[in-house]
Amino acid sequence: LPEHDVIVVGLGAHGSATLYQLAKRGISAIGIDRFNPPHEMGSTHGETRGTYEAGALGSAHHVPFSRRTIELWRELERDSGIELLTQDGILIMAGEDSELFRSTLKASTDTGSQFEVLDAGAIHARFPTLVPEDDVVAVYQPKGGVMRVEPTIGLQLQLALQHGATIRANEPVVGWTASESGVEVVTTQDTYRGGKVIFALGAYLPELVDLPVPITAERQLFAWWKPRTHADNFALGRVPVWMLEKPTHEIIYAFPDIGTGVKTGTHFEGTVTDPETVDRSVTDADLETLRTLLATIQPDVMGEYLRGVVCLYTCTPDRDFIVDVHPNHSNVIVACICNGQGFKYSAAFGETLAQLAIEGRTDLDISPWSLARFASS
Ligand SMILES: Cc1cc2nc3c(=O)[nH]c(=O)nc-3n(C[C@H](O)[C@H](O)[C@H](O)COP(=O)(O)OP(=O)(O)OC[C@H]3O[C@@H](n4cnc5c(N)ncnc54)[C@H](O)[C@@H]3O)c2cc1C
Repeated sequence: LPEHDVIVVGLGAHGSATLYQLAKRGISAIGIDRFNPPHEMGSTHGETRGTYEAGALGSAHHVPFSRRTIELWRELERDSGIELLTQDGILIMAGEDSELFRSTLKASTDTGSQFEVLDAGAIHARFPTLVPEDDVVAVYQPKGGVMRVEPTIGLQLQLALQHGATIRANEPVVGWTASESGVEVVTTQDTYRGGKVIFALGAYLPELVDLPVPITAERQLFAWWKPRTHADNFALGRVPVWMLEKPTHEIIYAFPDIGTGVKTGTHFEGTVTDPETVDRSVTDADLETLRTLLATIQPDVMGEYLRGVVCLYTCTPDRDFIVDVHPNHSNVIVACICNGQGFKYSAAFGETLAQLAIEGRTDLDISPWSLARFASS
C-alpha cells in the first residue's frame, strides 16, 4: 500500500493550498479529489471572489488570515508571474444604522485598515454606475479587491506537484479509518495509508465525516451581465467589488468586469440542498430575484444576461468555520471554511492546516473555529 505523511482529501481552495504548503515543507503528501480541480461541482469556481481587510462578513479573528493570505499570494505571484489578486478596492454599502456598516467601520478602525466613509452622493460621484438610495453609506477599503479563483487553485496544485506531492483526480474517496498507528483512506481505485488525513471537502463534508454538528449545503449562484450602457465604467480599475445590504438584510454584490461581463450574486440564506442532487441550472426565478435587487443599485448592469452558474455554501449552525482535530481521532483534521466567505482566507488556512498536521500547533489562532464551541452553546 502507498505510504504518505499526510493525505489531503478535497482539493478546492483549502485542500490545494494545504497540499502546496505540505509539499513545500518537504512532507510526503498526497491530495485526492473526486473531480478534476478546479471544477464547478463544489464551492471554488466562477472566476472571482472578493476580499476585504476587516469587517463586512468577517470578525476580528478572521483579519490575520486575510492579511496572511495576501502575503502568501503575493509570494506566489512573484514566483509565477501570474496575477491572483487585484487590489481594486471594495465598497461595503448599507444603512447608516445597520450592524453591517457599524461593525465594518469599527473593525476597519480597530485593525488599522485603510478606509474611507462615503455617503450616497460621494458613492455615485466616484463610481457612476452605482445609484444608491439617499440613506445608504459605505466603507471603502482600497486594499480590498478581486481574487482569481481557478488560477489560484491551478497554481497551488502545480506547485504542490513540483515540490513532490502526488495528486489523484477523478478518484472519489468512499471510506476511511483511523487508529493510533495511522489512517487509511479508501477510494474507488485504491487504498492509501498515511500518518494523518485532512478533510477539506466543502459541502460534501457530511458524506464522509460524521461530526457532532449539523452541516448543511446551500444553493447559491453567480450571474454575468453585459451592461446596458457605458461598459467601460463597469471595468476593473473603474469600479471596485461592491456589496449592498438592503434594510431587509438581503445582500447583493457585483464584481468589476474582468473581460467576461459583470458578475453578480446575492448573499443570504439559500435553499438547503444536497450537493449530489442540487439543481445546477440558473432559473428564471433566480434571475428575477437578482434583477429586483440590482435595479435598486446598479440598474444599467442588466443589459444582457450572459450566463449563470450554481455554487454551494457550506453552513455550520453559527455560519462560521470549523478548523479542528476530529473529536475521536487525533490524526484526523477537519476544515469546513465556507458560508460564502472562505476564499479570502484560504492560503493562510492552507499554511495553518499544514502546521497543524505536521507540528500539532499553528501560528495563527484557530480556537474560534473549534468544534467544542457548539457543545457549549
Ligand atoms: C456563490 C459563492 C460566493 C462566494 N463569494 C466569496 C467571496 O466573495 N469571498 C470569499 O472569500 N469567499 C467567497 N465564497 C466562499 C469560497 O468560495 C469558499 O469558502 C471556498 O471556495 C471553499 O473552498 P473549499 O476548499 O473549502 O471547498 P471546495 O472548493 O468545495 O472543495 C472541496 C473539494 O472536495 C472534493 N470532494 C468532495 N467529496 C469528495 C470525496 N468523496 N472524495 C474526494 N474528494 C471529494 C470536491 O470535489 C472539491 O474539489 C463564495 C462561495 C460561493 C459558493
